[in-house]
Amino acid sequence: MICICIYNHMKKRNLIPWILLFFSLFSCQEKKNENVIFTSFYPIYDFTKRIVGDHFDVVNLTPPGVEPHDFELSTKQVASFYDGKALFLNGIGMEYWSDSLPKDLKDKTYTVTDKIEIRKEDGIDDPHVWLTPLNAIAEMKDILSIVNTLDPTHKEDYEKNYQKAEQEFLSLHEEIKEKRKTFTQNKLVVAHAAFGYFCQEYDLEQIAVHGLEPEEEPTAKEIENILDLVKEYNINTIFTEEMASQEIAEKISQETGCKLEVLSPIESLEEEEVGKEDYLSLMRENLEKIEDACK
Ligand SMILES: [Zn+2]
Repeated sequence: MICICIYNHMKKRNLIPWILLFFSLFSCQEKKNENVIFTSFYPIYDFTKRIVGDHFDVVNLTPPGVEPHDFELSTKQVASFYDGKALFLNGIGMEYWSDSLPKDLKDKTYTVTDKIEIRKEDGIDDPHVWLTPLNAIAEMKDILSIVNTLDPTHKEDYEKNYQKAEQEFLSLHEEIKEKRKTFTQNKLVVAHAAFGYFCQEYDLEQIAVHGLEPEEEPTAKEIENILDLVKEYNINTIFTEEMASQEIAEKISQETGCKLEVLSPIESLEEEEVGKEDYLSLMRENLEKIEDACK
């Protein structure tokens, strides 16, 4: 594993606890949302939707086109939690804002990654668990047991939905394994270090331009190191992403003649992808691009 960035995760905003405290002091009079499950960002939304079907409204907090690493909750969103049934999080440092939620909101907040073995990137817990279908299944299993408790009357439906999703995700896992057998290249140069679990599961190696958070900037020395690796291992593609800066990736591509290709960390949908793409379709698009780069 080669990651080259300095982690600056701790520079979070001190104002947020005060805003949240303020909202915990009065009750919101807006329309009740008792049938709503909130999800922090896209993959949790996708997985939750598959399990609950139409029995709950699932509301995703991070809007399309917004990078969840840097997302800040609006005060209106915090207020709306009071009436919601539950809030599902990825955890592992993705939703720094959740640490400051008042106790009564924390009581209906669930992290859906507890059964996943967390890998580290440069000594830091890597939050990008959702990028393997097997981890996604583990998350859906967690979601299943939570919604079974929240709404036992529809238990049978939730079990059925889970079984269906599990089959679909397992067949994606098999597809990836089959394609992997044809790869001659095992190194992926990616914009930010989101693909560690994917690479670990399918015996690939991630070389990240930016760190666990997309805005981390590599040093000149680290860029130099990537340039050397690209040449040494005959890498032909540099993967960027829609919502992160491409400047350094472009520089590396210019200097090495590699092509630039967009790989989705499936952290958010783009505006134009809403209703057209989902976790499975984006994973398959990623897989095709990885296959092209590694054949
Ligand atoms: Zn990320």
